[in-house]
Amino acid sequence: MSDTASLTAPVVDVSGLDAGYGGAAVVRDLRLAVGAGEVVALLGPNGAGKTTTLLTLSGLLAPIAGTVEVLGGPVDGTRPHLVARRGLAHVPEDRSLFFDLTVDENLRLGLTGTRSSRRAAYERAMELLPPLRNLGSRKAGLLSGGEQQMLAMGRALVSEPKCLLVDEMSLGLAPIIVERLLSIVRDVADQTRCGVLVVEQHVQMALAVADRGYVLNNGRVRLEGPASELSSNRELLEESYLG
Ligand code: ATP
Repeated sequence: MSDTASLTAPVVDVSGLDAGYGGAAVVRDLRLAVGAGEVVALLGPNGAGKTTTLLTLSGLLAPIAGTVEVLGGPVDGTRPHLVARRGLAHVPEDRSLFFDLTVDENLRLGLTGTRSSRRAAYERAMELLPPLRNLGSRKAGLLSGGEQQMLAMGRALVSEPKCLLVDEMSLGLAPIIVERLLSIVRDVADQTRCGVLVVEQHVQMALAVADRGYVLNNGRVRLEGPASELSSNRELLEESYLG
């Protein structure tokens, strides 16, 4: 998939969005879409509004203006649990793990449904994240940074999301681990048809796995397009970062 026009039933469809805090917009007039099975990179310098965008899509922050549709329903910032029930999972920047619980206990927190459907969902997540398999009884707080990030992804994946938001998973991780995690993100989209919006500071690595990308700067989209085009036009990319 290479442009938004070809998205027949986007899992995320945002138009004219102003989002921010205390009525002050830090994201302005955002138009953004993510299709099923697509990986979309949300890029941009620090403070650009990337996390604010994800929080608004999850229903944790009310839009100031514009429309936000996720998985066929509106998101207005009042009922994030309903957005999660529709099939959205959010891996936050801080990973939000329970350090005193084991890997398996953390994963179980994300499981829903009957016993057999939970077991099947757990197995499917393990297939995508095999390194977690041998860590089940380890306390989350004792894992390496990369393992913790895999666990955060695993907890999102056991809910079998149709839309996955991943906020800066590379924080504090070596580039080789980031590359591995990003390739897992690609596998998730390809194998489960989940639409993924991934915020990432490793621009070229993110564009290497993404279908499309948006560069936000100072709350506005400065550049958007197919990942391969963005990736090959480094001058334009740099300009969009400089604002
Ligand atoms: P980074 O890459 O550094 O995480 P970002 O692109 O995710 O940055 P945001 O975290 O969305 O950017 O922040 C956008 C702007 O909103 C920043 O100017 C930030 O200071 C401001 N901001 C973030 N959180 C709050 C908050 N809770 N209250 C007020 N302003 C906030």
